[in-house]
Amino acid sequence: MYGFRSDPAATGIGVAFTHRWGGVSEGPFEALNLGRTDLDHSASVVENFARLRDSLAVDSVHVVHQVHGTTVHEVTTEEAAGWSPTSPLGDGAPGQDPLPVADAVVTGVPGAAIAIRVADCLPVLLAAPRERLVAAVHAGRVGLLSGVVQATIEAMRRRGAGEISAWIGPHICGDCYEVPATMAAHAAEILPATAARTTWGTPAIDLAAGAVAVLAEAGIGVEHVGPCTRTDPSYFSHRSDPAAGRQAGVIWIAR
Ligand SMILES: [Zn+2]
Repeated sequence: MYGFRSDPAATGIGVAFTHRWGGVSEGPFEALNLGRTDLDHSASVVENFARLRDSLAVDSVHVVHQVHGTTVHEVTTEEAAGWSPTSPLGDGAPGQDPLPVADAVVTGVPGAAIAIRVADCLPVLLAAPRERLVAAVHAGRVGLLSGVVQATIEAMRRRGAGEISAWIGPHICGDCYEVPATMAAHAAEILPATAARTTWGTPAIDLAAGAVAVLAEAGIGVEHVGPCTRTDPSYFSHRSDPAAGRQAGVIWIAR
């Protein structure tokens, strides 16, 4: 179920990155698909979220409708209390509220896990253990270059965060993320650390190196960097299969 999972006992903060196994979805969504709710069977996605919630021993798992922007959504006590097992489907389920449109989530509510869904894009998880504040960020190429990581750090600081730690999940690596030369040059202009070349010698973008640089600039160290989704078959990869499901980066404050 997980490629990485940290024990919340030590710091009071839990961190997990799921892989594709351990769920009930089939075909390109096999098996632990936590996204693509418009295409996968609703019942399968709900069951996958139920397994995630049970396994993490959290009360709720909150997701957002990701649009490659820089909006940070806060999960409040009220929102957490209103969560139901079909909430992750958004308005794909009858009578359900649409998901908040955002690419980062922050919360201080214990037991309310927040998750970012990805398949090659970079999931970044942030925690300020002393102030009991956590955040999850969807940092694909567009979001990273637009400053979604900085926006999330600012949102945490505004809520009193002191020392922050970061975890970077599975993502398409700089050796594999081939892009047109003009796109690579544009990225390197905004964030020089993203400059990379594929193993076959063409222009590429290194999303993780870019995020590490942004975090370092803010005085934030990285505890963990996940593997490459394109070359590790345990993960959904949009580049490998455009119909692929979604894994998640999940962070929560222990109850
Ligand atoms: Zn790779």
